[in-house]
Amino acid sequence: MSTDQHKKDNKERLLDNEPVGMTVQVVRVMGDGAFRQRLLEMGFVRGAKVTVLKNAPLQDPVEYMILGSHISLRHSEAAQVEVTDKDAEFCDMEDAFNGIVETTVAGVDPMADNVLRVALIGNPNCGKTSLFNNVTGAKEKVGNYGGVTVDSKEGWFSIGGRKVQLVDLPGTYSLTEYSPEEMYVRTYIRDNHPDAILNIVDAGNLERNLYLTTQIMDMNIPMVVALNMWDELEKSGDHLDIEMMSRLLGARMVPMTAHNGHGVKEVLQAVMDAIDESEHQTQHHNVNYGPLIEDCLNELGATCPDLDRYTVLKIIENDQHAIDLLNGQDNADEVKSHAAEMRQRIERDYNDDIASIISDLKYGFVRGALAEALTPNPERATGDTKPGYSLDRLLTNRWLALPILLVLMWLMFEVTFTLGAYPQEWIESGIAWFGEWIGNVMPEGILKDLIVDGIIGGVGGVLVFLPQILILFFFISLLEDSGYMARAAFIVDRIMHRVGLHGKSFIPYLIGFGCGVPAIMATRTLENRRDRLVTILTIPFMSCSARLPAYLLLVAAFFTANQGLILMSIYLVGILVAAITAIVMSKTILKHDKTQFVMELPPYRKPTARNATIHMWSKGKQYLQKMATIILAASIIVWALGYFPRHDGQTPQEQIENSYMGKMGKAIEPVVEPLGFNWQMGVSVLTGAAAKEIVVSTMGVLYTGETDADEESTTLKEKLQTATKPNGEHVFNPLVAYSFMLFILLYFPCIAALAAIKREAGWKWVAFEVIYTTGVAWLVSFIFYQIATRL
Ligand code: GDP
Ligand code: MG
Repeated sequence: MSTDQHKKDNKERLLDNEPVGMTVQVVRVMGDGAFRQRLLEMGFVRGAKVTVLKNAPLQDPVEYMILGSHISLRHSEAAQVEVTDKDAEFCDMEDAFNGIVETTVAGVDPMADNVLRVALIGNPNCGKTSLFNNVTGAKEKVGNYGGVTVDSKEGWFSIGGRKVQLVDLPGTYSLTEYSPEEMYVRTYIRDNHPDAILNIVDAGNLERNLYLTTQIMDMNIPMVVALNMWDELEKSGDHLDIEMMSRLLGARMVPMTAHNGHGVKEVLQAVMDAIDESEHQTQHHNVNYGPLIEDCLNELGATCPDLDRYTVLKIIENDQHAIDLLNGQDNADEVKSHAAEMRQRIERDYNDDIASIISDLKYGFVRGALAEALTPNPERATGDTKPGYSLDRLLTNRWLALPILLVLMWLMFEVTFTLGAYPQEWIESGIAWFGEWIGNVMPEGILKDLIVDGIIGGVGGVLVFLPQILILFFFISLLEDSGYMARAAFIVDRIMHRVGLHGKSFIPYLIGFGCGVPAIMATRTLENRRDRLVTILTIPFMSCSARLPAYLLLVAAFFTANQGLILMSIYLVGILVAAITAIVMSKTILKHDKTQFVMELPPYRKPTARNATIHMWSKGKQYLQKMATIILAASIIVWALGYFPRHDGQTPQEQIENSYMGKMGKAIEPVVEPLGFNWQMGVSVLTGAAAKEIVVSTMGVLYTGETDADEESTTLKEKLQTATKPNGEHVFNPLVAYSFMLFILLYFPCIAALAAIKREAGWKWVAFEVIYTTGVAWLVSFIFYQIATRL
């Protein structure tokens, strides 16, 4: 092959070896498979200019600028890109722009299935969710970070008396079905036949965004292009000739600023017009791939009339998913061999492989169109970093990045706990007052005991942590919305790499400090299954906010100095166990060579208090729902297990001890005794399996039962401090408390987290996780307690 010849003749220059500040042009991307495809789609095509911006603080990965967007590549990944600084090599570049070809598409009845359906498609971060929320009044989470939407969301809006269903799909750079998002979007379009596609593009980054548009064009579905972030384009001083651009693409283009609603009405109207037109026969514009490929498309298209142009091209490209669509067709084998022949012919003719030929041509089309329609601001010097990136000088600075990241995380947790303490106190005294009041008005009996001790005591003990959970989610939302999350991934990638993961896993982990369930769901942004599994299985070691009540209680009761440090050490132990687990898994049961992918670093955007509040509230609601269901039920069960069977003439303590729960706790006492636990703690651990908040409410029920009624006003904390064993020794001391915290941190993820793991990974991994986490918890507490008591 001539590319190998080329390799021998000129010693190749690799992007990896280029110094910071250097701008070079891409010659080709080596290797094969999904990662190469992704690089091509991100714009690493022949002749594209790449600038080396900076090394991450730990020297790997490296930030590059291509097509105006900033992306992060590891050294090993950049070594796959061959580059040059000689313009001369690209004198044949002009040929790529062939304009369009038109396809006639028969009319369809948009109401055939009784719903008008519009699908939102666009790159990550282009503003799909902002538009979706604006139009449907939904309160979905937006975020300045790729892959926040990993599911589709459906909403409704009305226009001109008609109801339309709008679907927010995951962000994708392409529709090649290499990542779960792409797969999801493709499958959605194939199965649901939307009546129109609303393609949202970032108007400030058209070259990259329109690549996806060229793929949608080939699907011959009515399309409207919303030029979002129009405010930013106007501010930049660039000029876009919308009319000309619309004519070229054969689709309406409408400027829009989704986050404040400007232009949204016009966009929706354009979508409705496009749908109405589709009832009649219409002309669609498609990218013209040049005479050879066009001939192939027509020829092959004639032999499989049911497939759209997009799929036919994919078959020529040897895309397995597209080829699978042929199965069941009589002439499938014939079409396949025919396509293979064509592929060889095209590759011979262009002297390149099919994947880069097609992406070259698509980018050629986009570049050609933009050359005609987009006039950059003449006053802006080329190569200037865009305004949204200036904060990077500080936040990804070689020396400051890590300290800033640590301080931000510390600040987040510190503010959460100190600020949260105030509303917490109010709620606490409210609940105490309420319990007393109910206690006074109700007659003695089982019902009163159930309500006061079981329900109010149990649920109330958990409710007090709502403020802290709200504050934590407020912060996480701010970090995502501003674009800092992607920087965090960039900064820590090297460290994550050490444990065999990508920096992107950092975000699910961070969310895991709030709650494991959304964190496990957020792993869907990881493209490689092995990475996802390792991340999913280690997330439960990130100490979620549900465990916090127990720590707060124990730290406050048994440690007077350095409370913050002790709390932090628990979190660090969790991180350490997760890291060790990830390393071991990567080397054994989930072995895999490399995780590669391109991560985009979006421009910083001002986070809005509105978004953060919406997100905070939706999390708060989830928490309250959990409380109204699982926690309420568990509190009642726990209370009942401790209340029955009833015997006359017992002290409260004897009653609990002889109850079902006491018997269960006693049964497992030998197992937990070496950890420093008594049977009450064993019981709390058992009930905490439902949800870890319940550990505290169980202790509340258990220890309230132990003391006399006249001590109603003493808090659980004081009761724990004074609790004694039959031999008069204190039940708790700092070592026992710490051992107990370690166990709560590490053992059995809650039922809700297991449900999420089941959904993402299957039963097999749920079983593994239950055994593994509980085993680790026991071992760690055991080692700690046995060693610490002997020192
Ligand atoms: P998605 O990933 O496509 O769903 O994008 P989001 O709706 O989550 O938005 C990504 C980021 O861009 C968020 O920080 C939004 O606040 C911001 N954003 C969305 N639309 C606009 C816009 O028109 N102008 C500006 N300046 N920012 C926007
Ligand atoms: Mg979104």
